[in-house]
Amino acid sequence: MAEFTIALRVAEAAGGTVDTVVALRGVRKSFNVGTPIETEVLRGIDLTLRKGEFCAVMGPSGSGKSTLLNIVGLLDRPTAGRLAVCGEETTALDERALTRLRGHNIGFVFQYHHLLTAFTALENVMMPMLGAAGFPNDAMRQRAAGLIDSVGLAPWRDNLAGNMSGGQQQRVAVARALAMNPALLLADEPTGNLDTKSADGVFELLRRFNREHGTSVLFVAHNAALAARCDKTIKVVDGELTG
Ligand code: ADP
Ligand code: MG
Repeated sequence: MAEFTIALRVAEAAGGTVDTVVALRGVRKSFNVGTPIETEVLRGIDLTLRKGEFCAVMGPSGSGKSTLLNIVGLLDRPTAGRLAVCGEETTALDERALTRLRGHNIGFVFQYHHLLTAFTALENVMMPMLGAAGFPNDAMRQRAAGLIDSVGLAPWRDNLAGNMSGGQQQRVAVARALAMNPALLLADEPTGNLDTKSADGVFELLRRFNREHGTSVLFVAHNAALAARCDKTIKVVDGELTG
């Protein structure tokens, strides 16, 4: 534990006043442990993401990109190794503490939007805030409306999410991910299902929030052209970082 805390401090010192938003040291992940089909999917990942960094994640299908994002997003636990998010060492945290850390610091955008289709765009964006406060209020509604505006969907604010186009739905998903003003945004192929123009629009939204709010982003890119527009690229091959 102490050793990892020191590693974090070293990483922070190397970045000057810049905070380390994500730090992984020797992270491994196996599925079906102790069964004949046990497979090691992540094989010792070391990764540091600083405040405001926009990092592309590339790699072939099945190489472990989503597993990596799920672990960084505290949706799954590593089998071995250490992970700190926003300066908090997560190894010893229980589910409740993980949920709190996740809810306050991490936003997610997946390839599929996962919106509640029977609710309006505005209501979908309010959901994470409801999760945190338990009841809706005007401040929430205003913040959600502002986010909907900022993703270019003001006229569609009260439309049911189920009646929107794929590109619009993904924009709502981005607004929802930013509802709690997270320090970290995890985007797992958010542009994978979109046509080139919509994909570009969603990418530019992420880029803009990154620049304006200093949100750190891990972005699984489905093509090299988008990756080239990020600050740095990591490549996952067979559960290891290369290059
Ligand atoms: P990528 O996102 O790079 O396509 P994934 O992280 O989804 O790769 O998957 C990496 C490997 O881990 C794949 O071989 C996949 O089948 C396996 N895998 C992912 N999740 C599970 C799971 N819950 N149980 C067993 N195997 C899994
Ligand atoms: Mg994946």
